[in-house]
Amino acid sequence: MTRVLEDRLNALQRIYDIYDEVLASRELACHRGCDACCTANVTLTTLEALGIVAGLGDAAEAVLASLAAAPDPRRFRPRTGINSIAAMALDGEALPEEEADPAAGPCPLLHNRCCPIYPLRPFACRCMVSTRPCGAVGYATIDDFLITVNTVFQQVIEDLDAAGATGNLSDLLPLLGRPDFKEAYGRGQLDPVPMNLASNRRMPALMVPPEQRERMAPIIERLRQIKRSS
Ligand code: SF4
Ligand code: SF4
Repeated sequence: MTRVLEDRLNALQRIYDIYDEVLASRELACHRGCDACCTANVTLTTLEALGIVAGLGDAAEAVLASLAAAPDPRRFRPRTGINSIAAMALDGEALPEEEADPAAGPCPLLHNRCCPIYPLRPFACRCMVSTRPCGAVGYATIDDFLITVNTVFQQVIEDLDAAGATGNLSDLLPLLGRPDFKEAYGRGQLDPVPMNLASNRRMPALMVPPEQRERMAPIIERLRQIKRSS
């Protein structure tokens, strides 16, 4: 792996660590074995997928095989990254309507109601939290501030991987397991970006509502420090 990618993976881990600190003070209903949020719709960036494959080491082959077995055809495949959506919003353009199918099946990695890659899981899994058990109401309950926090972290994670792409776990993890794709990604040459993936881009601005700017400021400053040092 190139030094640049290693540095980016270190920066990604620091972003995850800050997010964990943000969540630490919150009362959440989430617990081990609670898996209603583990669906086939989970997405991630190429850098996150690279981190998972690298972190799995020798276990990667078995995990990738379980993904290749029967990918859910209803799985969410994003066509637009969060920073492209931010750019459209800034330009006053109509935003794309992309919705995940709630009928998509469980995450193909889920095994005995537990996640086999839990310490390595992507941000989309980390930010799926709820103050009430989702099973009772059928959806997660989080406040507006955490929605903004999640959006900002998503933007920063895409920005860190601006030459990469975003896609569904079942599509992207196997790609990062392929030496030719990994090599092209390492050279920053994902051109054209494979079908079923959305191109990443730098963030044009952070999407923070005016009433939340003061509360978000210390979190954003910590994220900026990572960007400055990476
Ligand atoms: S987000 Fe909902 S389903 Fe997922 S762990 Fe938390 S309470 Fe359980
Ligand atoms: S990767 Fe793990 S945490 Fe994420 S949806 Fe799949 S089983 Fe759940």
